[in-house]
Amino acid sequence: MKNVFYLFLVIIISSCTYKMEIGDSEDPEPEQVNEFAIVIHGGAGTIKKENMTPELELAYNDKLAEAIKVGHEILKNGGDAMDAVEATIRIMEDSPLFNAGKGAVFTHDGTNSLDASFMDGKTLNAGAVAGISTVKNPISLARKVMTNSEHVMLSGAGGDAFAKALNDPAIEIVPNSYFFTQNRYDGLQRVLKAEADKDPQAAVLQLQDAFTKDSKYGTVGCVALDKKGNIAAGTSTGGMTNKKYGRIGDAPIIGSGTYANNATCGVSSTGHGEYFIRAQVAYDISALMEYKGLTLEEATETVVQKKLVDLGGTGGVVALDHLGNISMNFNTPGMYRAMMNDKGELVVGMYKE
Ligand code: ASP
Repeated sequence: MKNVFYLFLVIIISSCTYKMEIGDSEDPEPEQVNEFAIVIHGGAGTIKKENMTPELELAYNDKLAEAIKVGHEILKNGGDAMDAVEATIRIMEDSPLFNAGKGAVFTHDGTNSLDASFMDGKTLNAGAVAGISTVKNPISLARKVMTNSEHVMLSGAGGDAFAKALNDPAIEIVPNSYFFTQNRYDGLQRVLKAEADKDPQAAVLQLQDAFTKDSKYGTVGCVALDKKGNIAAGTSTGGMTNKKYGRIGDAPIIGSGTYANNATCGVSSTGHGEYFIRAQVAYDISALMEYKGLTLEEATETVVQKKLVDLGGTGGVVALDHLGNISMNFNTPGMYRAMMNDKGELVVGMYKE
């Protein structure tokens, strides 16, 4: 009798072990795809080959590659994701090719007003500036708001005053005229003329048209995963041509333009900010991963191709998760973008394919 009991016990234990093994093999631990990785965007919109000259294409290619390689080098040497994001974005801010820093679009009043945000996925600390006008590299100021103030977002003259008070060589103060580029100024004149030619309602539509059908984009963003498993994200922009009344877009809003969480992913957005704010794009991608267990690609696809499209929002995101998966998802004809993995493989893209 005792022997029969032991026999049953052995059968039960071994069947449990068998089940656990089956369970394990059915649901394997997700694999680390990249030990570290970095992804950037330089804006999404009507970026089509037929609208590009070979010279301009080359210029975008080279600048995207230059910027991402700087961040990649930091990560490769064991550096911090936050340092990689800041250094990479600064290079794009300094380039007149993008709508951030030098090359920012003009407000209705003919000035340049800049927005940026920064987030640390390890601590969920974040910093942002909105509507500032005298800081050469707004991304660095956004990071300083995170580290050197008890606030998350500073705006307008207050943000500029905070920058000055820091008295830090990394936060260079420049006259607003520093941001001038002829190209962006001409863009404003085109929109102003269109506005003047039409009745007020048509002018609003024209403005939207200018935003969605033209290459008025160029916001920059970066997300990085470092060797310690930390994710950081940042976004910087001049906003929208002809913006009025202190309009602020999604770029400086944590959860819309930027989000980072080591447990899920980091995201930087670009596109028609009003829609990205309403859809809480960056946080929604993270939330879909956290609450619904979606993969990074499933989450970006759901938000960019479904939720945003249903609202009428155009644009895209770059994102990466804690496993080093990378996503560059957009619903516009193009998005300036680049990614680099831990093997140093670089992919630069602009158009849909
Ligand atoms: N999202 C930015 C804004 O609405 C613009 C852009 O990404 O091009 O201000």
